[in-house]
Amino acid sequence: TTRLTVDYAGQLNPQQYAVVTAGGGPILVVAGAGTGKTRTLVYRVAYLVETGTPPEEIVLLTFTRRAAREMLARAAALLDGRCERVQGGTFHAFCLGLLRRYAGRLGYPSNFTVLDASDAADVIDLLRTAHGLHRSGRRFPRKQTIQAIFSAAASHPDADLETILEARYPQFLEHLEALQALREDYACYKRQHGLMDYDDLLACTIELFRQHPDVHRQVAARCRHVLVDEYQDTNRLQAQIVQALAAVHGNVMAVGDDAQSIYRFRGADFRNIFEFPRLFPGTRILKLEQNYRSTQPILDLANRIIRRAHHRYDKVLFSERKQGERPAIVPAPDERTESRFVCQMILALREQGVPLHQMAVLFRSSHNAFDLEMELNRRGIPYVKYGGLKLSEAAHVKDLLAYLRLLENPKDAAAWNRVLQLIEGIGPRTAQRLIEWITSADATPFTLEERPFSPRYAEALIRLFTLLRQLWETELPLEAQLTELLHYYRPLCERRYYEDYPKRLQDLEHLVSLSARFQSRAAFLEALVLDPLELTALEVEPLVEDEPPLVLSTIHSAKGLEFHTVFIIHALEGILPSAYALNDPEALDEELRLLYVAVTRAREYLFISYPMVRYQAGSGSYLTSPSRFLEDLPEEILEPWVLVEEPTASSAYELPDSGASALPPGD
Ligand code: ATP
Ligand code: MG
Repeated sequence: TTRLTVDYAGQLNPQQYAVVTAGGGPILVVAGAGTGKTRTLVYRVAYLVETGTPPEEIVLLTFTRRAAREMLARAAALLDGRCERVQGGTFHAFCLGLLRRYAGRLGYPSNFTVLDASDAADVIDLLRTAHGLHRSGRRFPRKQTIQAIFSAAASHPDADLETILEARYPQFLEHLEALQALREDYACYKRQHGLMDYDDLLACTIELFRQHPDVHRQVAARCRHVLVDEYQDTNRLQAQIVQALAAVHGNVMAVGDDAQSIYRFRGADFRNIFEFPRLFPGTRILKLEQNYRSTQPILDLANRIIRRAHHRYDKVLFSERKQGERPAIVPAPDERTESRFVCQMILALREQGVPLHQMAVLFRSSHNAFDLEMELNRRGIPYVKYGGLKLSEAAHVKDLLAYLRLLENPKDAAAWNRVLQLIEGIGPRTAQRLIEWITSADATPFTLEERPFSPRYAEALIRLFTLLRQLWETELPLEAQLTELLHYYRPLCERRYYEDYPKRLQDLEHLVSLSARFQSRAAFLEALVLDPLELTALEVEPLVEDEPPLVLSTIHSAKGLEFHTVFIIHALEGILPSAYALNDPEALDEELRLLYVAVTRAREYLFISYPMVRYQAGSGSYLTSPSRFLEDLPEEILEPWVLVEEPTASSAYELPDSGASALPPGD
């Protein structure tokens, strides 16, 4: 036998070793949180490369592009730089790469534009207006809702629109026909204007493989091994893509945890993972059982929580690290106090040597953190926030990027719609007419023929076209292009967002300087639309020299990560579980899994807090109730804390292990 560089047997437990060194064929690893699924995949990459698989023929599919990059960097550190050549990324990024190459086969231009959910909603809105559907008198769904309905339909290729409506939006069933017509129009329109939404990236890839077996064979031949992390959050389309990629070599390894499936709203179903053996006959199912992340008291809580699900998950997490602090439940009189408690704990822990970036505050949705953010700012604690509304989704950022998108794809009707309506004197209907004319003309992009434009906007229109034309013809570096565009956009921004334009201009200047790190327009736009987290990460980098910041994150965005200390805030009925889930057992189970994901992120300390009183504009102060998921848990599992504030104190709270405590356990 040849000697291998990496000591696989020494660095992995026997179950992990079996996964890493398993031969080919389909393999499914279903295992609980923190059992080393992701780590095992990293070793698998190194092992495959080391035993002779060409790295270019390995595909690693992950939940974020950043996760893929980090995993490959770790594999490279184990073995060598060859691991960096592995194809890695999200399903969407992988499909986009393929489609850029083969779009022509589907009748798309290769420079098609990718629409995010809100762009897609805008296009739908454009068409809806043209159909006069918004004037039907009856309650018609909002554009975001229509987008969500279409997206749900796209993620469930086996169900028709009617089934989707029946299951999730019965109140709009009366519009079935109108919605069907609109959906067809939407599909045509995207094709005509070279637009693809997120779902199209997956659906078109499958379409491409179906229609062009030669392309399919060629692509699949280069997928000697397909590895998928977080398989529990894939949907049917993604499963079909995995199947297609493995069609030649048949080597697929998927790892996941059904108890951590939290993307039902994107068409993921925790049961999908059990479809795997059906899709891939001959699947070997392997297990990992020991948790290496958390102390046993944290796992005891996680085990208790997941037992409350209607569905039975047959995993019990255990750790060799038996000692540890019990997770704490901390009721706070109000939000302000909750925020102060979290900040003081963070400062105390930092004092004890826990770096800020090893602590995370997790919440159900982004606005749950507003109060905390103010407190962090007040105290000058640096933090980065993941999830929720991203910079690239803000209106002013979308405006500026729309110009850039036009330079990439001059037929991008959604971008035209944005930029035209920024011109004074152009409303939705005029924009609509102009777009039809602009995108149907075969002339060189950005040329204005002699036309009787209304004097109200003619001059402004010419100015815009001249600028775009100039940028299109000259190959300025990306940053310079954006600088020009910002110069043009500045007064428009000021007029449209007068209330807070200075802050917005700041964002835009920041964006321009970030763009300097990208090679091309296309790469920049793609990074923003595919993985908005990437931008957040870039924003953080400058801070790293000082002190890597505290992490604030929605639970959804914290998937797969781990921290020394985790705070879960706002653990309230109506928030976690969210209000809309209260009457739906399936939705409630998903909320429970969400809490399970949050709890299992913690290595050493876990604090779950909630405000006992909240204030809401309009309804005033009201009493809250703690999350039902945390009710009736014995003190051995979840230790109740009582906040006692000393009259003068700024550091009134002490750590549980610090002896005489300002935080006596409640009784
Ligand atoms: P999740 O379900 O949350 O994604 P996971 O199963 O992917 O978790 P990992 O993130 O791979 O788990 O591993 C959890 C932690 O345990 C990591 O810090 C990892 O380095 C560590 N770990 C896993 N296996 C071992 C091992 N055999 N020896 C030492 N540490 C390990
Ligand atoms: Mg993982």
